[in-house]
Amino acid sequence: MNILLLGSGGREHALAWKMAASPLTDKLYCAPGNAGIAQEAEIVPLELGDHAAVIAFCRSHKIDFVVVGPEAPLCAGIVDDLEAAGIKAFGPSRKAAQLEGSKGFTKDLCRATDIPTAAYERFTDAEAAKDYLRRHGAPIVVKADGLAAGKGVVVAETLQQALDAVDMMFAGALGQAGAEVVIEEFLVGEEASFFALCDGETAIPLASAQDHKRAFDNDQGPNTGGMGAYSPAPVMTDEMTRRTMDEIIVPTLRAMSALGAPYKGVLFAGLMITSDGPKLIEYNVRFGDPETQVLMLRMMSDLVPALVAARDGVLKSFDLRWYPDSALTVVMAAKGYPGDYEKGTLIGGLDAAAAVEGVEIFHAGTRAEGGNILASGGRVLNVCGLGKSVREAAARAYAAIDRIDWPEGFCRQDIGRRAIEREESVT
Ligand code: AMP
Repeated sequence: MNILLLGSGGREHALAWKMAASPLTDKLYCAPGNAGIAQEAEIVPLELGDHAAVIAFCRSHKIDFVVVGPEAPLCAGIVDDLEAAGIKAFGPSRKAAQLEGSKGFTKDLCRATDIPTAAYERFTDAEAAKDYLRRHGAPIVVKADGLAAGKGVVVAETLQQALDAVDMMFAGALGQAGAEVVIEEFLVGEEASFFALCDGETAIPLASAQDHKRAFDNDQGPNTGGMGAYSPAPVMTDEMTRRTMDEIIVPTLRAMSALGAPYKGVLFAGLMITSDGPKLIEYNVRFGDPETQVLMLRMMSDLVPALVAARDGVLKSFDLRWYPDSALTVVMAAKGYPGDYEKGTLIGGLDAAAAVEGVEIFHAGTRAEGGNILASGGRVLNVCGLGKSVREAAARAYAAIDRIDWPEGFCRQDIGRRAIEREESVT
């Protein structure tokens, strides 16, 4: 098969690495890609918002299958346009992508289908939203309805923070995404990332993961796209997985089918594991970043036929196998991220780092120039370790990081610490 992968982050490097290893892959292209993905795929400079250009490329290069990484093109309907042009594509339709594109849509679906989630209301008017906040008090969570690149959620510890968040969103700080807000109950528990591969009717769970969203050690500092992750997530026991499938994923697929928007692709449920069981925090309609990096390291099965089976609606008889090992990834980011940061700084030592046993390095924001690798984004590298335990996986990843020479970068030093403590209290 000739495959085109769309996207440019660490998630896409991990997907490219796994797809390039498939015996089914003749030729892999990636647009717009990065310097790491260039080791696995031929990079093509396509603008993902230009669907006609993507379709023209698929035709001229005899592409059999397109895999879409990020949410923005999915919400913009790229899968609808590719399929209408007769090109098979992995990912949800525009209508099904509303599960990520509109938080209000998802909350209403949960309410109508009895899917466990935080209590909520939707608002298009600041005064009504503030009345609600004053009646309910803090802690409380204020969310922009639309896609806001990770900036649309304010977990308010005080009423004033919540009122300020409403003002900020209705003042247009997040553009159209904040024209409607969802206000919801603050949930207490441990978070986990849950992934299911879906073909419209059937869902099969992938391995579980946990990520670290805050920028600094001990979960301090601002929220980010994710500073590290590990898999499996100890909190996702077999019982929690079964409940998540039965109470959240399967009812969602049924409801989407009933709406005439069957969900195909990967469904990523952000969960809070509460004392009452799993509750849905939010859906994403694509693979997680950085969770995908650890999932791909643990996946024993070939990814390509699984993605094709999801697209073709034949997942029912499908089985995915996983290595029992633990995988962990540490994100190296440019100093200043998630705020302003410098671009174009030189990264050295990558070959020596990749030579550490059990280590794989995925690039998130890099470009190649004159034989050098330069940082070109906020999150720049995913240094991943695979091991018999989270402790071993972490030791390998951090040993590799010690060999990377990038003074303008930083990483958290405590990725996986809680899981390691848990491992050690068991043994
Ligand atoms: P989201 O973008 O919806 O995943 O939210 C980002 C982060 O905000 C989540 O990973 C949680 O840590 C936190 N969060 C979102 N909603 C809630 C909630 N209802 N209760 C507690 N924390 C939440």
